[in-house]
Amino acid sequence: MEKFTSSTMNHLIQLRHTLHQFPEIAQEEHNTAQKIMEFFASLGADRTIQNLGGTGLAFVFKGKKAGKRLLFRCELDALPIEDLKPSDHQSQIPGKGHLCGHDGHMTIICGLGEKLSQNRPESGEVVLLFQPAEETGDGAKAILEDPRFEEIRPDAAFALHNLPGYPLHQVVMRKGTFAAGSTGMTISLTGKTSHSAHPEAGINPAQALASLMQKLPELPKEVSGFALLTLIHAELGSLAFGTSAGRASLSMTLRAYDQNDLEKLIDLVKEKATLVAEKAGLKIDFGFVESFAVSKNDPELYPIVENAARNLGLSIIEKPEPFRWSEDFGLFSQICPSFLFGLGAGEDCPQLHEGTYDFPDELIKTGVGMFVEIWRLIQKEE
Ligand SMILES: [Zn+2]
Ligand SMILES: [Zn+2]
Repeated sequence: MEKFTSSTMNHLIQLRHTLHQFPEIAQEEHNTAQKIMEFFASLGADRTIQNLGGTGLAFVFKGKKAGKRLLFRCELDALPIEDLKPSDHQSQIPGKGHLCGHDGHMTIICGLGEKLSQNRPESGEVVLLFQPAEETGDGAKAILEDPRFEEIRPDAAFALHNLPGYPLHQVVMRKGTFAAGSTGMTISLTGKTSHSAHPEAGINPAQALASLMQKLPELPKEVSGFALLTLIHAELGSLAFGTSAGRASLSMTLRAYDQNDLEKLIDLVKEKATLVAEKAGLKIDFGFVESFAVSKNDPELYPIVENAARNLGLSIIEKPEPFRWSEDFGLFSQICPSFLFGLGAGEDCPQLHEGTYDFPDELIKTGVGMFVEIWRLIQKEE
């Protein structure tokens, strides 16, 4: 593989630091998108799509003849968490930080853009996608629902995520599920308030709430694969001592390694909660937020990613179990063969979303190298 000159890398590191200094959270990534537009201004992409699924961007590099359309995806958004690591590129925006390394992922795709600009695909097309709002699980969905996505609908899609806790540069792979699917779910129970001297005149959801808090976490046992239900918030009535509660809500996160298992778990929760509510004479409603599909890797793409890592001399680890966290890239695995892999960010690196996390600059070169090599290997197959 062609070597990078240090000036190219410095230029990318500088870009990463600028992105790190001015983080924007989900749905607000306007200035970030602008910076990416400026970076691509001189790269001569054959097609640029702006405001895709909100603030998203896609740059298309076309080959001389027809062939596969490959998509490489990164994320535009940062987190509503303070950047606590003092550095020359510490976040300038109070309460916001690039603490998931999406600044690094964007820079890697920018580096790939430079490579494509210098060396057009022989055949097919390469789409570089800068997706908004990954952290809330809304971005991938918004991209796929944008009518213009049809013009860039890929034959295969790739993404990477940096992974603290693994040796720097190690490629973390899995056949099948890479990361769990999950959803936030809120159950709302509505009864009737009454004077606390006459609770019998109202319908107090307290017992139903208590029963659900006990019974719902048991439901994952009824699902065949790995599934988990974690209670995260509960509320009953209000702090009014003269009033018997008339409302309650219970919020939880559901997750599973298989999309069918996740849907089964949701159905089980609905079924059980409806039963409990009906018995108590309560009205019941369900709300869902932050839904992430299971990230499922296509087995046919596995050897391509594996060979790319080998060709770069990187160490590879096949993770025995999927990750319990979720990535909204999972939605791409529902529309085309896709592959998500991890890049070790160092064993002593702070965890993602920690205040002191800072994407390792050394990974930019590795990430660009991996994507260039994946693209090269697929071209060779055609
Ligand atoms: Zn994150
Ligand atoms: Zn992330």
